[in-house]
Amino acid sequence: MSNVLSANLGYPRIGEKREWKKALEQFWAGKISKETFLDTVKTLRLSYLKKQKDIGVDLIPVGDFSLYDHVLDTAVLFGLIPDRFKSDEKEVSLETYFSIARGNKDAEASEMTKWFNTNYHYIVPEITNETKPYLTRNRLLDLFNEAKTELGIVTKPVIVGPITLLKLSKGYDDDHFATLLDALLPLYAQVLGELQAAGAEWVQIDEPILVREQSEEDLAAFNRAYKFIKESVPELKLLLQTYFEAIDDYKEVVQLPVDGVGLDFIYGKEANLAAIKAYGFPEDKVLAAGVVDGRNIWKTDLSATLAELQTLLSADEDHGKLWVTPSSSLLHVPVTVANETDLDSILLNALSFADEKLNEVVTLAKGLSEGEAAIADAVQKSSADLQALQQSAHRNNQAVQKEIDQLGDELPTRPGSYKLRQQVQADAFNLPPLPTTTIGSFPQTKEVRQARRNWRKGEWSDAKYEQFINDETAKWIQIQEDLGIDVLVHGEFERNDMVEYFGEKLAGFAFTRFGWVQSYGSRCVKPPLIFGDVSWIAPMTVKESAYAQSLTKKPVKGMLTGPVTIYNWSFVRDDISQAEVFNQIALALKKEVHALEEADIRMIQVDEPALREGLPLKEAKKAGYLHDSVYSFRLATTFVNNDTQIHTHMCYSEFDEIIDTIDALDTDVISIEAARSHGEIIATFEDFDYKKGIGLGVYDIHSPRIPSVEEMKSYAERALKVLDPKVVWINPDCGLKTRRPEETIPALKNMVEAAYEVREEL
Ligand code: GLN
Ligand code: ZN
Repeated sequence: MSNVLSANLGYPRIGEKREWKKALEQFWAGKISKETFLDTVKTLRLSYLKKQKDIGVDLIPVGDFSLYDHVLDTAVLFGLIPDRFKSDEKEVSLETYFSIARGNKDAEASEMTKWFNTNYHYIVPEITNETKPYLTRNRLLDLFNEAKTELGIVTKPVIVGPITLLKLSKGYDDDHFATLLDALLPLYAQVLGELQAAGAEWVQIDEPILVREQSEEDLAAFNRAYKFIKESVPELKLLLQTYFEAIDDYKEVVQLPVDGVGLDFIYGKEANLAAIKAYGFPEDKVLAAGVVDGRNIWKTDLSATLAELQTLLSADEDHGKLWVTPSSSLLHVPVTVANETDLDSILLNALSFADEKLNEVVTLAKGLSEGEAAIADAVQKSSADLQALQQSAHRNNQAVQKEIDQLGDELPTRPGSYKLRQQVQADAFNLPPLPTTTIGSFPQTKEVRQARRNWRKGEWSDAKYEQFINDETAKWIQIQEDLGIDVLVHGEFERNDMVEYFGEKLAGFAFTRFGWVQSYGSRCVKPPLIFGDVSWIAPMTVKESAYAQSLTKKPVKGMLTGPVTIYNWSFVRDDISQAEVFNQIALALKKEVHALEEADIRMIQVDEPALREGLPLKEAKKAGYLHDSVYSFRLATTFVNNDTQIHTHMCYSEFDEIIDTIDALDTDVISIEAARSHGEIIATFEDFDYKKGIGLGVYDIHSPRIPSVEEMKSYAERALKVLDPKVVWINPDCGLKTRRPEETIPALKNMVEAAYEVREEL
């Protein structure tokens, strides 16, 4: 029988109880010394390796652990350090490293952006045409040696590959790509050569860029790069690893001079399998099969997965060069279910986080090596657990399923056209031109957060907490009145988080205690689990909105989070389609919108800040996602009367690919983040000839800086050059919950003043 190995591609950094995060933040705050910090993270790092060894993983990665971000680690390894952080130090100090990530008093941090279609953010390396890469300290060698001497483990070092690294960097011109690559390759060769000399057998080179379409030139660059590397370190085995989708250029990629190729059989399953079927897989290479979902939290159906793996193995029987792996690094899932004590047992038994996933990987490899009988108990248990959840009442809500079945194909539509609504709403609300408003939240001060903690711990009664929230709301309604804002908000003081708040009040959601994942740096998020049919139980926001409205004659906007954002910021069941989950959430929100309308809330904002980030990586899948997003948003919002004004809000600035979608949402008003890239955004809306209500953010709420009247006026004036004054609103970029009142009030005062002055010029 063949010997199938298990391999991990990357392990979460944060620790079971976020020990890593705590160590980082204590170090940054100067509460622990550098020595204590380095000791703490070393202990953590070794404990993760030990854990993987105990689980039985054959090939354990090093270099996946990071003190901030693995892309930054790779940039620093090759001396790709922005000029403003350069000093004469040969090795990059910890201080410099963190300054690049977080900024310091003299220099702005490097930009960060999303790692493909995940919620993980990497630090964007800055490279200019003149950059001369050089080797700093070979940290991979340090990590390899550490694991070998301290634990006796011969690990598999992981590094971001040269093409992905360059493609994700910014600041150089395309025609310098080849020169930069030529400068990097000998450095890769040196790093890998030192690993080989130290006893490494395999290295994993991550080239996730391969899931994007590659041009002829790109493929030539891949050929050149890997030929160079292979020739430099002929003894070292190279695993070229991809993830998050299928690779487009299968034929070319599997011919590269490497010893193994890692493919994602979860998120790129169909296309990767089809390519293998059509072209075969080279006999002399290892196929690392990513069959355990590295991005979601459900148990693997071992029986079905084993059957799939067997088809891969049979194509490969004589040489047995198959590895079982997660579909990607496990960075994107929480550490372990072992500490979850509060979950419904049917749900708990169906969950699998990083540690449990590695167990599945090991089990599957064993099943392939020793035969299915060797893992019969595990196979049986995984089927039973998944079936129990599937058959539970949570996933069999007849009322929800009936509503879903009744949905037609046609897009839900408002009774009146935008033109008609615009007229009706102008009469109903009688707003001044360029109305001012805010995005929803006001400062979540220490007092607000303390009040919520007191209430959650049971130290405050419901009545006391509610009174506190009401008082805070009343205070801010008064502030908004005094400032002269035209359309008010209640301030969202009752909300901890814009998704969790709704998840806690809808059926079908659950919350873990320790289900954290890294978002960027030390920042972690704990996404809700959408595990059952979603349904509306009772009004979620009406009390707060109605109370706020009772205090003022000005309109108060109701405030909801949209279906796509709720989906994108959760871990979601994978037994039904994305569209179906969108629509279940939308049907629940529709009931909330209805309840708000009944309570005479006449403007309702449904936020979709995460719509853009869910856009699939593959061109061919984009249209379907966008259609389903529009459908669900309209399901929740278009049934309202013509004189109910629907708003939405989005906070990012890449609109070019989704401007049609934004228009198709058919909202009466959209507010978007724009202060940092005003010109570009205006151009997008101008080219599209956007005709509906639109508020381009004039106040960058991410900075504590208070923008002047002049500055905000100039943004508004620029917008008016291309947009009809009848549709323009004046608002900040996003909610103000992270700002302090001392920043918020003067900034809004300037914003209102700017609106007055621009109105005068109309
Ligand atoms: N209404 C939300 C708020 O103001 C919107 C937040 C967001 O766009 N991320 O906080
Ligand atoms: Zn926002």
